[in-house]
Amino acid sequence: MKRILIVEDEEMMAGMVARVLRQEGYAAETAGDGGSGFSRATDDSFDLIILDWMLPDRSGVQILRGLRAGGVGTPVLMLTARDQIEDRVEGLDAGADDYLPKPFALPELLARVRALTRRAAEAPAETTVRAGDLSLDPVRHVVRRGDERIELTAREFALLHLLMGRPGQVFTRSVLLDTVWGMPGEVQTNAIEMYVSYLRKKLDRRGEPSHIRTVRGVGYAFRAEPGA
Ligand code: CA
Repeated sequence: MKRILIVEDEEMMAGMVARVLRQEGYAAETAGDGGSGFSRATDDSFDLIILDWMLPDRSGVQILRGLRAGGVGTPVLMLTARDQIEDRVEGLDAGADDYLPKPFALPELLARVRALTRRAAEAPAETTVRAGDLSLDPVRHVVRRGDERIELTAREFALLHLLMGRPGQVFTRSVLLDTVWGMPGEVQTNAIEMYVSYLRKKLDRRGEPSHIRTVRGVGYAFRAEPGA
């Protein structure tokens, strides 16, 4: 069940939102001021925080900045009576994922809640793939060995990402062609061999067995520990 924290000082509003969310199958919890909202949001993990802008002790934007500065990446939907464009920009700059001006219609709130909780579930927290001192970051498109950056072409990168993502799994030539090249008919049959040899030159250390293992007559596999 997805968990939602509602930080809102107006009790009727908070109670109504919590009830509607519970009816929709969410676990909803309320906090009536900024201080308790901030500590709940940092102490526990939620799928979404619905955060009111105007709170008695500190503003929603201050809370949001504090959460983001503290590394809390939970999606935040800001609620506010303000609908000034500058405020909206300020909220988004502070790290809000969406913004809903009061008064709002409940179906609109629910639609945004669905979108934000879905987005969060789809985004993996850590996308970087690692093996020993080798790391591949698909978001920034960077491969490193230790501190040293290894320059790869887009195709080399895609091939390495596929192999490295499932160490030990043997990928057949046809799967590699389908996945990395997309149109096997237009690719030379030795393309995979060529790209594997490029990758080995760039990745492997002299005198050490290759990270990419040839499985004769079948295809290739990535080994997390060269020589294993
Ligand atoms: Ca308020």
